[in-house]
Amino acid sequence: MEGLGTLLLFALFFYLMMRFGCGAHMMHGHGSKKEKYIDPVCDMEVDADKGYGMVHQGESYRFCTRSCLAKFDADPDHFLNKKEGEHHEM
Ligand SMILES: [Zn+2]
Repeated sequence: MEGLGTLLLFALFFYLMMRFGCGAHMMHGHGSKKEKYIDPVCDMEVDADKGYGMVHQGESYRFCTRSCLAKFDADPDHFLNKKEGEHHEM
């Protein structure tokens, strides 16, 4: 029954990630750094305290609108792979 416990834990973890990912815009007010993010869907600049945020594979992304977030969420790789000039070094 060890597998079931792991699965439940993973499900809980995933649920929390989804919650915090989608609810990230409610967490503003912490710190006052003026960071800018680039919306990977439409390439618009998004202020750190505006728009909608989510974390994908350990990277934070921000989106100007909820529909951009939804598009990214549906197919993240599509929007990440289009930037061929930018290579992440691990
Ligand atoms: Zn956008």
